[in-house]
Amino acid sequence: MSAAILDKHQRPLRDLRISVTDRCNFRCVYCMPKEVFGAKFHFLPKKELLTFDELHRAAQIFGRLGVSKVRITGGEPLMRQDLDVLISQLSEVEAVQDIAMTTNGYLLTREKAQALKDAGLKRVTISLDALSDSIFQAINDVSVPVSRILSAIDAATAVGLKPIKVNMVVKRDVNDGQIIPMARHFRHSGVVLRFIEYMDVGNTNGWRLDDVVSAQEILLTLQEEWDLEPMAPSQPGEVARRFRYRDGGGEIGIIASVTQPFCQHCSRIRLSPEGQIYTCLFGSEGFDLRRLLRDETVNDPQIIQALTALWSGRLDQYSLLRSQMTSSSPKVEMSHIGG
Ligand code: SAM
Ligand code: SF4
Ligand code: SF4
Repeated sequence: MSAAILDKHQRPLRDLRISVTDRCNFRCVYCMPKEVFGAKFHFLPKKELLTFDELHRAAQIFGRLGVSKVRITGGEPLMRQDLDVLISQLSEVEAVQDIAMTTNGYLLTREKAQALKDAGLKRVTISLDALSDSIFQAINDVSVPVSRILSAIDAATAVGLKPIKVNMVVKRDVNDGQIIPMARHFRHSGVVLRFIEYMDVGNTNGWRLDDVVSAQEILLTLQEEWDLEPMAPSQPGEVARRFRYRDGGGEIGIIASVTQPFCQHCSRIRLSPEGQIYTCLFGSEGFDLRRLLRDETVNDPQIIQALTALWSGRLDQYSLLRSQMTSSSPKVEMSHIGG
C-alpha cells in the first residue's frame, strides 16, 4: 500500500467511487423523481463519458495516491455497456485490492453476475427498500417487483460475489413499516442488510428532516423483536454501525449519515461519469479531471500533483456541519455521483 496523502483533517485518501453513468432504469422517489428526471431531462451524451481507458488510467493514478478500494456506482452502473470489460481493466491495477459495485439489481442476471465475477468484481451491494411489492413499486416508480431484485441477490450469491449487502433507505411513512419484514427475510441468509438514513443529497428529492427515520429509531424497532449486540468496525472509516443477532441470525448495519455523521473518517473521493472529481457527496463543484486526462500535454505526474493538491486542501465535513449550513449552492445529484 502506498503512503496515503492526508487532507486538512488528517484523513487519508483510500476509496474511489466511480459513477459510470448518470442514467438509471428506476425513478426512486428519493433519488431521481420522475417530475425532474422525465422525458425532457438531458442525460450526458456518450462522448462526454470517461472511456474505459480513461477510467483505467484514472484508477492507476489514484492507486499511486493510496487508493486501494474502488466501488462502481451510478446512476445504474449495469446500464453502462460492457461493464465487465471495465472491471477487468480495473482489476489489472496493482494497487486496487478490492472492486465492489452498488446496483439496483434489475439487470443482474446469473450470466451477468458470473461475467462480472470472472472479470474481477469481488462484492456487490444491492439496493432494495421493501419486501412488499406495492411499497417497493411506489418507491422505484417504474413498477419493478420485489421478486426481480430477490433473483438478483440469488444470482450474486450463486456466483460468490460475497459478502452481499442489501441497502434499504428508510423514509418515514413510506417504508419504515418494512424494517421488521426486511430484517426477518434476510436473517440467517448470510446477506448483510443495511438500513440507511434518508439523506438530503442533491436538490430534487424535497428532503425534510421529518422524513428521516433515525438510526436510533431503527435500532429500537429491531430490538423490539430481537436481541442485538454491537460489533467492532471491520475496518477504519467504516460508515455502517454493525450489530449481530445474539441468536446467531447474522449481521445488520445502520448508516446514520444524518444523525451520527462519520465525516471524521471519510476517506472517499468520487468521480462522476464525465470525469469531475468530488471530495464530498454534498459537493457543488467538481474538479475537472477529464480536461487533464484529455490534454496530451499533461502527463501522469502532473495529474498526481494536481490531485495531491486537491486532497491536501480538503476540508469537507458537510454532514458534521449540516445544521450550521447557510449556503444554498446547488449540490451534485446522488444519481450523478452514486452513494
Ligand atoms: N442505482 C444504484 C443503486 O440504487 O444501488 C447505485 C446508485 S444509488 C445513487 C446508490 C445508493 O444510494 C443506493 O443504495 C440508494 O438507495 C442510495 N440513495 C439514493 N438516494 C438516497 C438518499 N436520498 N438518501 C440515502 N440514500 C440514498
Ligand atoms: Fe436509480 Fe439507484 Fe437512484 Fe434508485 S437510487 S433512482 S436505482 S440511481
Ligand atoms: Fe464524507 Fe462529505 Fe459524507 Fe462527510 S458529508 S462523510 S465529508 S462525503
